[in-house]
Amino acid sequence: MGGKVLVLMYHRMGPKERYMVRSRANFLSDLERLYKLGFRPVTVSEYAENRMTIPPGSSPVVITFDDSHPSQFRLTKDGVPDPNTFVGAWLGWAKNRPDFPVKATFYCNANGPFGPEREGRRKIAMLQSWGSEIAAHTRNHVNLAKVSPEKGRKEVAESVLYLENRGARVTAFATPYGVWPKDRSWLDKGFRWNGRLIKFSSVAAAGSGPGHSPVSRHFRPMALPRIQAYPGTKGIDDWLKRLGQKRYRVYVQP
Ligand SMILES: [Zn+2]
Repeated sequence: MGGKVLVLMYHRMGPKERYMVRSRANFLSDLERLYKLGFRPVTVSEYAENRMTIPPGSSPVVITFDDSHPSQFRLTKDGVPDPNTFVGAWLGWAKNRPDFPVKATFYCNANGPFGPEREGRRKIAMLQSWGSEIAAHTRNHVNLAKVSPEKGRKEVAESVLYLENRGARVTAFATPYGVWPKDRSWLDKGFRWNGRLIKFSSVAAAGSGPGHSPVSRHFRPMALPRIQAYPGTKGIDDWLKRLGQKRYRVYVQP
């Protein structure tokens, strides 16, 4: 079964567009372009486990946010999502597009918008109620190729437990810097940590092209490629342009 799946990667929202920073206007224009092209959002785990529930004839897009930056999700003093964050902007935009809800995957470290325990719990509950998922990204954003396997497992396990403690259901992982440990078998197969099995249905990398459909024989959920949401070569603009030029096909939900 042919067709590619776009997994987009966002980090921070800021006034000036640059590497790892997407402006609010460009984020909203990304959503609008995707919507008009017939994409509908799914989470990484729905994609990796082949349980996407988008309408037949539409194409999945996986929107991911890395590093739990505050610009991803803030609440105002009144307790509502700040429109100057990715979540708040998307929520406002989706009011008139209920078939493109805030459904994304947030690869989190132990900090940022989900850091303070009570507020973290509240935000995670909100995101999960909209269909989004919370995923792991190590506790301290370590480079897994540069730490011992023991330290690597500790970083991964502790990030899962930290997020679970705030009410998250964690089934996906992304490697910081897109770097794998030298021996990645424990990450692929799962491992025990204080008696607990830590195992993921997918592991995402950093770049730089569309992924295979979950029914393709080339599909490798333990090394999902992603596309950076930035204007440069191999970024989102480039890949959407290639799609318009019919240089590749996207997966269409049967
Ligand atoms: Zn990261």
